[in-house]
Amino acid sequence: MGEFDLIARHFKRPVRRAALGVGDDCALLAPRPGMQLAVSSDMLVEGRHFFAGVDPDALGHKALAVNLSDLAACGAEPLAFTLALALPSADDAWLAAFARGLYGLADAHGCELVGGDTTRGPLNICITVFGEVPTGQALLRSGAQAGDDLYVSGTLGDARLALEALQGRVALPPALLAAARQRLERPTPRVALGQRLRGVASSAIDLSDGLLGDVGHVLRASGAGVRIQAKDASEWIAENAYGISASSLFDQDFLLQCVLSGGDDYELAFTAPAAARAKVAEAALQANTAVRCIGQIESAPGLRVVDATGRELTLPFLSFDHFA
Ligand code: ADP
Ligand code: MG
Repeated sequence: MGEFDLIARHFKRPVRRAALGVGDDCALLAPRPGMQLAVSSDMLVEGRHFFAGVDPDALGHKALAVNLSDLAACGAEPLAFTLALALPSADDAWLAAFARGLYGLADAHGCELVGGDTTRGPLNICITVFGEVPTGQALLRSGAQAGDDLYVSGTLGDARLALEALQGRVALPPALLAAARQRLERPTPRVALGQRLRGVASSAIDLSDGLLGDVGHVLRASGAGVRIQAKDASEWIAENAYGISASSLFDQDFLLQCVLSGGDDYELAFTAPAAARAKVAEAALQANTAVRCIGQIESAPGLRVVDATGRELTLPFLSFDHFA
């Protein structure tokens, strides 16, 4: 199978929303009047972002999911994407499974593949997504204000828990491992929630590198600080995700580390004024996505994590690199 057979076989489908798709030198996109194009790229490299030998269907899903998550964080509606692939070989069965995972998620979001590049090399997947957002309404990192609530969608820390288990550092009961692994390998981009938060949230970001590090980006962009209630954040992984008490399995510091600084969550963190609480609840309901308030924005810069009594925690992982 040559390069062009490979593309024709696995990555060429008729387009419905783009003006021109795969097959020419450029694809052509026509955003609707009054809309801005939201553009983002994310690359997945074998050995760094995923294990060699990972299920190709899950890999196809995740490669697009992490990109859709960026559109979600901007409140954009997915439109199209390109796919740049380096492959060690043209393995037809692998490509078919990869394309299945990719198109499964793409079709669920009406996001179509319009072009890309294919080359031989160590396995590397780079997707660029294009979305539409009404002019001036994109959610940005820079709008958080002192007094705003800080919210997070879904659950946090479960992808990190799976990683710890797959690397042999912790043992998980089979049902918990399966659930956590699903979160690591098949994250759910919060696309509907992002769109519902337009005009409600004052800032937003998607969580790829861990809550504290990513919220740190919002704080820097907004010139603000935050107080996070550790209890609210850590109880969540225990109660919400698995219906079993993870806190009975692990010590509290380990759980907190997963929740506060584990990566690969692909949830949204966002801020909204206290006066918008009912609107946030309505957006979450409409998007069928759980959200939870875990803290408040403050004018004093910095990241403060407090326990149930309001005492500030000093945990070793709170201070490494990007949260320093
Ligand atoms: P060019 O040399 O003009 O950049 P290519 O020969 O690399 O074009 O690609 C031919 C066509 O196939 C282009 O339309 C390109 O966008 C598309 N394409 C190449 N690789 C992929 C891929 N992995 N997925 C989708 N489309 C692809
Ligand atoms: Mg060309």
